[in-house]
Amino acid sequence: MIKDLKNYTFDELEALVIDLGAKKYQAKYIFSSIHAKDVVSIDEFTTLKKDFRARLADDGFYISSIETVEKLVDPDGTIKYLFGLADGVRIESVLLTNNDRRTLCISCQAGCRMGCTFCATAKLKFRRNLTAAEIVDQVNAVSADIGTVNNVVYMGMGEPLDNYDEVMRSLRILNHHAGKNIGQRHLTISTCGLPDEILRFADEKLQVHLAISLHCATDDERVQIMPTANRYPLKELFEAIRGYQAVTRRRVMFEYCMIKGVNDSDDDARAILKLLKGLNANVNLIEYNRHPGCKFKPSSRQRIGAFFDILMQGGIETTARYKRGQKIKAACGQLGATWDEYGRRGEK
Ligand code: SF4
Repeated sequence: MIKDLKNYTFDELEALVIDLGAKKYQAKYIFSSIHAKDVVSIDEFTTLKKDFRARLADDGFYISSIETVEKLVDPDGTIKYLFGLADGVRIESVLLTNNDRRTLCISCQAGCRMGCTFCATAKLKFRRNLTAAEIVDQVNAVSADIGTVNNVVYMGMGEPLDNYDEVMRSLRILNHHAGKNIGQRHLTISTCGLPDEILRFADEKLQVHLAISLHCATDDERVQIMPTANRYPLKELFEAIRGYQAVTRRRVMFEYCMIKGVNDSDDDARAILKLLKGLNANVNLIEYNRHPGCKFKPSSRQRIGAFFDILMQGGIETTARYKRGQKIKAACGQLGATWDEYGRRGEK
């Protein structure tokens, strides 16, 4: 049985409370105390009867909490948080602010098993999956620091669909009105493309956005930078995406990191158009962010502009995201860039 009360969805907490002989409505008090009021000790549940609190403590229940180890602020306003977990593992989250819109990019694993060659996180040793509590606590910690977080994107360290159950649980916790109450349309999970899990995600009946890290529009190119493409060729991936869309009718966003001489030719842009034909999709072009030891270079802004034009002229809604958080290594693909392979801090 899970002992960390922060790890329970609202429904699971109701079932637990009933199981422990208390009234169902007390689950709402516990859930909102943890997720809306940042309570971190069972002793602070002062509305609960003393003997119920004692029962929770005696049965070994507790409320976990991640620790903010470091906060770095980039001159462009981007903030990177380094969090320490109970077993000493470290993760990073990045806050991007745009007027009133605060978007937090969170991690779902310590390290990543997917091995994308352009990504700093892939160079770290994979430590473990995060629990739902550790995933949502990144939002709790940042909200406590700077105020309401409006959007959450699962684009930090790790592959969300490789930690499927805990990520789904965390989405339900973040969305619940008794907690952070973040609308499902303000939550996005991003995957490098695991077909079975994409189809499973379709059946969750969530309004959460799905983003696919495409990065190349042909298998020959994709296997060079994304090892998962060896297991899941584009044909299989796109069958799953079409299956997802048939069930959910939701638009899918494709992330495309622009790497000089690797995936940024006019032919590549035309290959994307072919691939996305008939899909309800948009493309987000990302200016590649270098990190120590990486062999890739970003495409020029002129090249990104030409690529952008081909996609737009082909009828695909396209946006371009230029570098942010460069000075503090908080940009896309840079998380963990200043760590050694074991997740320790080192100057690289
Ligand atoms: S880009 Fe994403 S999926 Fe690929 S290695 Fe990095 S964190 Fe993992």
